[in-house]
Amino acid sequence: MNLHKLILTENACYKAGKTIVPKGIMVHSTGANNPNLCRYVGPDDGLLGVNKYNNHWNRDRPDGKKVCVHAFIGKLADGSIATYQTLPWNHRGWHCGRTAGHDRYVAFEICEDDLADAEYFNAIYNEAIDLCVYLCRMFNLDPAKDGVLICHCEGYKRGIASNHGDVMNWFPKHGKSMDTFRADVKAALDAENAPAAGGGGGTVPEPKPVARMAVGSKVTLKSSAGVYTNGVSIPASVKDKTYTIQQVKEDRVLLKEIVSWVYVKDLEATSFVPTNRGDSRPAAIKVGSKVKIVGNTYTNGVKVPGSVKAGTYTVQQLKADWALLKEIYSWVELKDLKAI
Ligand SMILES: [Zn+2]
Repeated sequence: MNLHKLILTENACYKAGKTIVPKGIMVHSTGANNPNLCRYVGPDDGLLGVNKYNNHWNRDRPDGKKVCVHAFIGKLADGSIATYQTLPWNHRGWHCGRTAGHDRYVAFEICEDDLADAEYFNAIYNEAIDLCVYLCRMFNLDPAKDGVLICHCEGYKRGIASNHGDVMNWFPKHGKSMDTFRADVKAALDAENAPAAGGGGGTVPEPKPVARMAVGSKVTLKSSAGVYTNGVSIPASVKDKTYTIQQVKEDRVLLKEIVSWVYVKDLEATSFVPTNRGDSRPAAIKVGSKVKIVGNTYTNGVKVPGSVKAGTYTVQQLKADWALLKEIYSWVELKDLKAI
């Protein structure tokens, strides 16, 4: 996700200053042919571009209406796709014309184009998945649960939103729907949670992490971690810090600096001890890196087709020493990737 922040502080909704505890996410699309973020988000921060009509939503009542959402997805001035956070995530938005919707849902707008461009659609669809995964993690939401992840028109059918057709005026033109969207968000979340869930859920099983957590590797203790392996709660002061692995067993490791055993599922690898597999380990690969596949197989042993090798991919997630490639949703060992 290419996330930026420009809070619409001049908007009356922001000034109203009310907060909510989000119980779900409502997806909107703008209903106007203008994919440029600068139509809605401003003033120009050097990336958005200038809105020469000065009619963005950082004003009291945009287009005379009491409207505001938590984020927009669309194009930057250079044509690349970005997400702009425009309200604090727990702010009470004005996006669906009904109190019941405003009280429960964090909401974002996807900037529509002429609805015919498949490349733009795929880009915003994937960006929206990333944003929903991010929000589901933030507010502990299950996108597969009834009524949690809905679009505006589904909100209307539930009696908690005004009568608009978004996003089902658009998604089906590209073979997608809110059902595929919910499933894709769920799969992406499951892929991230795979070690905790024993490798299940995602469409691409994640390689087993334990063998990759080598002694000497650096790991970060996730903020979501609950307890040490002895059942004692992990204090917040210990989380989000980086430690060195001193010993490895089954599903747990001993962290040197705090002399504590922690479950592997609660750790994120940050740097790796070189293995004896040659000098091809590309240390420069990070989340967001552009890479090519130079190896012959995926981590599951399946051969990488020549057509896939010709492509360029974005690293979406990193585990001990393999990476998930966003565009093909496949895990590949780092030694089999080349940063470009
Ligand atoms: Zn809407």
